[in-house]
Amino acid sequence: MPTCPTLRIALPVPLPQTFDYLPPPGSPAPDAGDKGRRVRVPFGNRELVGMVEGIGAVQDQATLREALQWLDGPPLLGGELHASLRWLARYTHAPLGEVVATALPAPLRRGEPLPDTHAWGWELTAAGREGAARLRGGSRPRRLAELLGDGALGEEVLAVRMDGWREAGRSLLKRGFAQRVALAESAPAARPQPGLVPNVQQQAAIEAITAADGFQPFLLDGVTGSGKTEVYLQAIARCLEQGRQALVLVPEIGLTPQMLARFRSRLGIAVHALHSGLNDNERARVWAAAARGQARVIVGTRSAVFTPLPEAGLLIVDEEHDGSYKQQDGIRYHARDFALVRGKALDVPVVLGSATPSLESLHNARAGRYTHLRLQQRAGDARPPAVRVFDVRKRPLQDGLSPEVLAGIEQHLRAGNQVLVFKNRRGYAPVLLCHDCGWTAPCSRCSTPLHTTPMTVHGAGRRLQCHHCGARAPVPLACPDCASLALQPQGIGTERLEERLLQLFPDFPVVRIDRGTTARRDALEQTLATLGEQPGILVGTQILAKGHDLPRLTLVVVVGIDEGLFSADFRASEKLAQQLIQVAGRAGRADRPGEVWLQTHHPDNALLHTLVNGGYHAFADAELAQREAAGFPPFAHLALMRAEARQVEHANAFLATVKQAIPAASPVECYGPMPAPMPRRAGFQRAQLLLSATQRRALHGLLDTLMPQVYPLPQARRVRWSLDVDPMDL
Ligand code: ADP
Ligand code: ZN
Ligand code: ZN
Repeated sequence: MPTCPTLRIALPVPLPQTFDYLPPPGSPAPDAGDKGRRVRVPFGNRELVGMVEGIGAVQDQATLREALQWLDGPPLLGGELHASLRWLARYTHAPLGEVVATALPAPLRRGEPLPDTHAWGWELTAAGREGAARLRGGSRPRRLAELLGDGALGEEVLAVRMDGWREAGRSLLKRGFAQRVALAESAPAARPQPGLVPNVQQQAAIEAITAADGFQPFLLDGVTGSGKTEVYLQAIARCLEQGRQALVLVPEIGLTPQMLARFRSRLGIAVHALHSGLNDNERARVWAAAARGQARVIVGTRSAVFTPLPEAGLLIVDEEHDGSYKQQDGIRYHARDFALVRGKALDVPVVLGSATPSLESLHNARAGRYTHLRLQQRAGDARPPAVRVFDVRKRPLQDGLSPEVLAGIEQHLRAGNQVLVFKNRRGYAPVLLCHDCGWTAPCSRCSTPLHTTPMTVHGAGRRLQCHHCGARAPVPLACPDCASLALQPQGIGTERLEERLLQLFPDFPVVRIDRGTTARRDALEQTLATLGEQPGILVGTQILAKGHDLPRLTLVVVVGIDEGLFSADFRASEKLAQQLIQVAGRAGRADRPGEVWLQTHHPDNALLHTLVNGGYHAFADAELAQREAAGFPPFAHLALMRAEARQVEHANAFLATVKQAIPAASPVECYGPMPAPMPRRAGFQRAQLLLSATQRRALHGLLDTLMPQVYPLPQARRVRWSLDVDPMDL
């Protein structure tokens, strides 16, 4: 019996395999050139959009369904992107169809064609050039015809030059005098501005990056304010000169209008931004412009790592240590790691930049896998801030602020400077406590009899909110346990600090910045603008720790980091050290010298001591040694399987069955099932299974055989489960 070629299609369904279909009616026999094309297919009683993963062969075509319709001419996801997405599906052990769906902007995921990315303009026809003189003098159509006399003009330009141009255009169109045309894009918007004169270390970094021939990973390890962005800009300028595209990834809160403006003016061309503030169509347009090679510089947050780059020349990941690069639901990819994979497949250099590199990246640099570029001084005339630790044991505190610190704030304000008070807790207070019986207000959807998740106090002490599930409640009038009226907000959040600082410094503005005040993208910008250059106080969470140049900021006060010193999470110390260094780096970035004051009840804490006296690298040395001793990443490779259900027995039964499927001889250690660090959230009981291996290959070898068995488990139907390879927190 003859065999018949079929399409092997990846579909966005939670099943690990691909699906075979016959080609759509009337299309020629499929071949390898169809890989990466989107196609619409029937699936059950639905229609889905899938991507051709490969070409198969069957003997019995009677059992197969026909695909309905090709959605692309040339493959939308061909070549490198196809190969990289397949790698990602294998690495995350997720269905390829779901990976593809994650990579595509929503309209493309739904099967829509690549959107139009041309800029539209108007030009005169031959008849128009001849006949324009016959139009009534001074009339709008005549004026428009005159404007177009020298050649086509873009609609944006017309809108500026002439009122009522659109009606006039329609009138010319009717006479056959003018037509609407697509303009070639990417015409230079302005002249690129010359770069700054790099210092010796910047120069060395720029040369190393531009000299790279093909794939080469770099760790650009430069203290805050050392001019990393300047290095990126000069490397990008070289990349553009060579006719190549550059992709820059930035953390969610690092992508500020300020930063985009700096890129645009320096490079002199359109810089295409991709971030969560865009709507679906805008995203699809940037994606399409990149796919067509029209977008030359793309700056975006996590999911921009999926941007097609047919003429790639350089990939940059700024603040590579930032946790926002890891997607925490759906396909749990790490944009930094995927950028490296794409850089390798595209054969272009990849620059990871940070003042506080992740321990993974430092380890790779030290092992010689990345070229380690260091910028050890601040650029220009800025000096590093002086750091002081304040022992606040037994000191009288006013809402967490010691007298010395308050005096220091006052002094800086009187000198005409700005002060940043950093507190990593939003809300008014982290806990509502009954002073008589010790009851604390729990979130009823996130607590268990053994584990209380407290509600955070908001609204100057009037409202309660759960920061894990979003539940809200009014503050009760009396303690539900003992009826006492002595309910007190316990501990300090940014709202409470703001309130107190306003009382203490009535002559100065106090501006609070945290996720509560800056839900919208441009709100941060606007809030900072209200402060402007005048002396005043900023109170905020780590949202303030990066991105912004605040030249008037001379004092950073860090309060209440003590909670972070005792967290159980193995990455807690790393995160805390990064936050402290980053927020400290806000001080004294211009000509005014900066100071950083740390308030703590634990002045002898080893982490603080190492960080303050030895800096980030000394901390990293100590922390890496501990990770090695304890068998944690980067010296071990982890995968976490999570399960949640209304009843904890279901979650545990599922995980226990998974565990049983692991061969006894496997070199992979398996811990659990055990309760998640938050054993209940939003009404769901949560449990997990931790897999750990010293060799990455061993872990993936096990998952390759294990995962296909997990999908069909009957126990899986009673739970919501997920696999997280390289989890950020356990
Ligand atoms: P980073 O990204 O490392 O935090 P930036 O690139 O934002 O640092 O630079 C910090 C400040 O130093 C900016 O105001 C920038 O304009 C300035 N700067 C950078 N490089 C130089 C240089 N070579 N000469 C003078 N100023 C510089
Ligand atoms: Zn009570
Ligand atoms: Zn909750």
